[in-house]
Amino acid sequence: MIRIQNFIGGEFCAPVGGAYIVSVNPTTEDAYLEIPRSQSADVDLAAKAAAKAFPAWSARKIEDRAEILDRIAFGIEARRDELANAESADQGKSVSIAMSLDIPRAAHNFRFFAGAARHEVSVSAPLDSNTMSYVRREPIGVAGLISPWNLPLYLLTWKIAPAIVYGNTCIAKPSELTSHTAFILCEIMRDAGVPPGVVNLVFGLGAEAGQALVEHRDVPLISFTGGTVTGRKIAQAVAPQLKKLSLELGGKNPTIVFKDADLKKHMKMIVRSSFLNQGEICLCGSRIYVERGQDPTFYNAFVQEFVRETRALIVGDPTDRKTFMGPLVSRDHREKVQSYVELAQSEGLKLLCGGKIPASQPRGFFFEPTVFSVEAQHAARIQHEEVFGPVVTIAPFDSTDEVVAHANSTRYGLAASIWTESLTSAHATAARLHAGTVWINTWMARDLRMPFGGVKESGLGREGQLDSVQFFTEPKTICLRYD
Ligand code: NDP
Repeated sequence: MIRIQNFIGGEFCAPVGGAYIVSVNPTTEDAYLEIPRSQSADVDLAAKAAAKAFPAWSARKIEDRAEILDRIAFGIEARRDELANAESADQGKSVSIAMSLDIPRAAHNFRFFAGAARHEVSVSAPLDSNTMSYVRREPIGVAGLISPWNLPLYLLTWKIAPAIVYGNTCIAKPSELTSHTAFILCEIMRDAGVPPGVVNLVFGLGAEAGQALVEHRDVPLISFTGGTVTGRKIAQAVAPQLKKLSLELGGKNPTIVFKDADLKKHMKMIVRSSFLNQGEICLCGSRIYVERGQDPTFYNAFVQEFVRETRALIVGDPTDRKTFMGPLVSRDHREKVQSYVELAQSEGLKLLCGGKIPASQPRGFFFEPTVFSVEAQHAARIQHEEVFGPVVTIAPFDSTDEVVAHANSTRYGLAASIWTESLTSAHATAARLHAGTVWINTWMARDLRMPFGGVKESGLGREGQLDSVQFFTEPKTICLRYD
């Protein structure tokens, strides 16, 4: 059993209360990691360490801070295999996906924000011949960063990097289900020369350590990625203190396939967009709408081919490089996914494939990639609620108006994808969708310079090059008269 510790003021330390939570490997079901069950006393220590580090860190030259971020990126790359294996053991994702997606992106997050900060310029404007104003963007203080279990290191570093490069210090609380790579990151950051107290990691449960962080008086900004229910609780908790808040929440993303889509080219990506990381990505498409019209040939062929490709996905040991889907993150989460499959059947949706625990995997929290077809059951709960697992539905549509109405019918608005060879359909449809990001003939291609976030119940605020500067700093306008 590996025991990890909190990282506070540059030191690894046991939680004040001495309690630990056992984390289970979702592939073997064996307990393999003990993580601190931190409480408000631990968050308090971290807040003190972060506040102490703030004056010196925020006064450092941007170039110094950027150089440290670059060193963290190299440190992540140097321990890539170890990080990928830890991410897989914690979360269930295949090691090959961790190696090609999660770990490189974690390094890239640091390198990207180091570059962005180096190239930052501020606004100035003359009012008349001897009066001018300029804007100073100033760090805010101690940032509270809360991240989920699905892309543990990828999403944690997406918050730490901008928080610290713009001069804040921070306290991060990863999900208690997936804390291992965050612990390894602490070693990497210490070795890269991050000064004590600039980044503090407090491990534990959301309702305890997370809530204490959100409510802490000396933490004036909170960046949260997770479920909408938790996001709402956090918004309520921070409202009385008027904290700055960024919420990246859930999704129920539509995948819209027009008849002129090039399926030879794109079918594999549409399948990937449904099941990558066991469907446990907020950006996965979970409602596929396929154009049918008078002649159902295209629709029928799509369904047949999609199901064939889904059945061919390799589900199994995530350490095997050929595996596409490992187990779900936990027994509880698999039970939630199973309950949605049962609900969908009781609501009259037709099961096309999957829907059960694979016979070949009696141990571990595996679940088959599952496809349902929808005819008229557009009000079914599975069409509106986030399952966050390997379950998708396919429904036909006859007109753009109809598909736009279905796509926009949920409370979510995170992302959507459109598959067509027609520029006109692509742009006209994209403009009408309620979503923070729309991909056309691609999926999950992320340009970090662009704003990222959701509309409606998928979130508040955006992250990205300019958006993260705006979130992690406050503008101060200085007006100077010099005659
Ligand atoms: P949760 O909302 O359950 O948890 C997210 C984080 O918040 C965890 O670290 C959790 O800790 C913590 N937390 C829970 N309760 C509180 C609280 N009261 N106060 C402070 N922190 C708290 O989400 P999941 O971890 O289950 O992640 C899945 C969800 O995240 C999905 O809905 C998914 O769509 C969304 N997501 C959104 C993304 C986006 O960019 N929009 C990206 C990725 C995921 P603990 O786990 O220890 O309880």
